[in-house]
Amino acid sequence: MTCTTETLVAAVRGLAGVVAEHRTELIDLDRAIGDADHGENLNRGFTAVLSALDSSTPDSPSAMLKLVATTLISKVGGASGPLLGTAFLRAATATAGQSELDGAAVAAALKAALDGVVARGKAEVGDKTMVDALAPAVQAATEAAGESVADVLAAAASAAEQGAESTIPLVARKGRASYLGERSAGHLDPGARSTALLLRSLANSAGA
Ligand code: ADP
Ligand code: MG
Ligand code: MG
Repeated sequence: MTCTTETLVAAVRGLAGVVAEHRTELIDLDRAIGDADHGENLNRGFTAVLSALDSSTPDSPSAMLKLVATTLISKVGGASGPLLGTAFLRAATATAGQSELDGAAVAAALKAALDGVVARGKAEVGDKTMVDALAPAVQAATEAAGESVADVLAAAASAAEQGAESTIPLVARKGRASYLGERSAGHLDPGARSTALLLRSLANSAGA
C-alpha cells in the first residue's frame, strides 16, 4: 500500500489523537529534566493542525506535510516547535510533486526530516534529544525502503522506540535538559519519546 493524500490526512489526525492521549506523560517526562511543557506544546500544535484541516483540504501529501510544518512552527514555542516544524517542512519538500508515496519515498522523507532537525538543532546521536529516536528510525527506514509504507514505518517506529529508551542513561548535551548536567541522566528524553510515539502512530495508520 502506498500513502495517498487521503491516508496521510487521516494519519495526521491520528497523530493529533496520540499527542492528546500522551499529553500528560510527555509533560511529566519534561518536568523531570525540562520545564514541563513538552506535552502541552505538542498538543497545542496538533490541535491547531486539526483546526487548520477543518478549513483547508491539502491536495497532495506534500501539502499535508507543509500544513503541519507551518502550523507547528507558528503555534509551538520552545525547542520542539521549530525542530519538528523543520522536520515536517523538509519532508514536504522531499515529497513535492508526488501524488502517492511508496516505501522509498517515505524513507527519503524521513531522512530529509532528520537532516533538517540536525541542521537546525546541531544535535548528534548521544546528546539525549529527539535525534536519538529519529536517527535510528531513518537508518531502519532506509534499510526497509524497498518494502511497503507500512513496513518502512513499522521498522522506523521500532528503531525509534529503542532509540528513545537509549536516552535514559545519557547526560543531555543539547536543549534545556543540558542545564542539569549529570542530573539529566536516568530520565527518558521527552522529545525522543514523542518522536517514537509519532512514528508508531504513523505506522499504525499505515496498517502496520
Ligand atoms: P523546551 O525545551 O523549549 O521547553 P520542549 O519541551 O517542547 O521545548 O521540547 C524539548 C525537547 O526538544 C527535548 O526533549 C529534546 O528532545 C528536543 N531538543 C531540544 N534541543 C534540541 C536540539 N538542539 N536538537 C534536537 N532536539 C532538541
Ligand atoms: Mg519543555
Ligand atoms: Mg518550554
